[in-house]
Amino acid sequence: MSKIITRFAPSPTGHLHIGGARTALFSWLMARHFGGEFRLRIEDTDTERSKQEYTDSILASMRWLGLDWDGDLTYQTQRTDRYNAAIDRLLENGNAYWCECTPEEVEAMREKARAEGKKPRYDGRCRDKHLDFAPGRVVRLRLPESGRIVFEDMVKGVISVDVSELDDMILRRSDGMPTYNMAVVVDDHEMGVTHVIRGDDHVSNTPKQILIYRALGWDLPVFGHVPMILGKDRQKLSKRHGARAVVEYQNDGLLPQALVNCLVRLGWSHGDQEIFSMQELIELFDGKTLNSSAAAFDPDKLRWFNAHYLRETADAELARLVLPFVQKDGFESASEAQLIPLIPLYKERSKDLLELAAGLKILIGTAEHLEYEEKALSKGLTPEGIAYLPELRRRLANLETFTIESTEAVIHGYVEELGIKFKPVAQPLRAALTGSLGGPGLPEVMAAIGKEETLARLDRACALHV
Ligand code: GLU
Repeated sequence: MSKIITRFAPSPTGHLHIGGARTALFSWLMARHFGGEFRLRIEDTDTERSKQEYTDSILASMRWLGLDWDGDLTYQTQRTDRYNAAIDRLLENGNAYWCECTPEEVEAMREKARAEGKKPRYDGRCRDKHLDFAPGRVVRLRLPESGRIVFEDMVKGVISVDVSELDDMILRRSDGMPTYNMAVVVDDHEMGVTHVIRGDDHVSNTPKQILIYRALGWDLPVFGHVPMILGKDRQKLSKRHGARAVVEYQNDGLLPQALVNCLVRLGWSHGDQEIFSMQELIELFDGKTLNSSAAAFDPDKLRWFNAHYLRETADAELARLVLPFVQKDGFESASEAQLIPLIPLYKERSKDLLELAAGLKILIGTAEHLEYEEKALSKGLTPEGIAYLPELRRRLANLETFTIESTEAVIHGYVEELGIKFKPVAQPLRAALTGSLGGPGLPEVMAAIGKEETLARLDRACALHV
């Protein structure tokens, strides 16, 4: 088998959304599975709506998802000459011709056809006029008189369209710019693309593109049109369904692997398996079993994947991922090395990196910046609760080695001496140390923040009701 080359061809008119991300993922996986290439092409011919910031954002989201691409980026706006060269070839081989009809004339033809109950199409009136270039003229493709365009779609099976459904489409507009379908065919051919995977909103373009391939005498790639992603209610996916741009999920503290895992399951499966590592996906994904019915996106499932991956991810990797969230507001000097030993304290308790970062900030902050939650004040740091703290402080201050074991022994020793339950003592202590009533074990917290900081936090809490 020749080398598999797939591609992703986003238009930089917005951020990368989950539909595009899934298409990119499928294309990427197929290339990696077969040891082929995955190429990236920026379809920026709509110069009004295309923006460099969106290209940058799409590339950043691709990198974040781990979808690396081979070779240089291709920008369509830099390839106009290539498209025009192909159009010239079509003019030379007689498969295209110059047309002088004005848009108004074409519209009148369509109107007439509609009135006669026929399909509105350009009637081919310039086909045999043998016109040359002149300002304002367009180039059209000369369609075969009859026949069917049949192709085997990777996802949808055999698709067949009669030529009579189409008309002599414009290849080069009157302003000299090639049309979208023309550009895509030249690009995919010249990039050596063997498999075109894209959203099925493009399925009606494919017969047109196939006609251009044929007119140029080029081999066809394999096409695969994946159904749109739906919301949980099986309506068109929108923000209302929790659908967001990839960068928004990133900012929400989700892990890339969670999104990858969630996306791959929208239209692809392997038995009942839910969780896949990237390596497993590469091994299993051959593009042959893509589902032809639309899949529904479930934000709760994404959260579930995220909680799973948060537990599974190594502490050092989590430290790397969470660091930017920790560094925001006031912790610019935090480092990965500093966070790694603290990660286990909040890892199991966090559903996303925002929650993890919030926990870590409690640990790395200093006593004077600790914020007390409302409940921590009303239930923990009451005058009765605070009354236990000075003696605890005294005993902790006497410790020579300040560890989980030694601090634990202090708390338990004190509680036993008092002959009361653990909670009345633990609650004020917890509130004093973390500003909240939940969180990791107290000895773990104390060992993590160290003796000096533990005592400083107790001092601050003791001063509350003075
Ligand atoms: N630029 C098109 C889009 O963003 C993709 C076209 C294609 O994949 O052929 O929808």
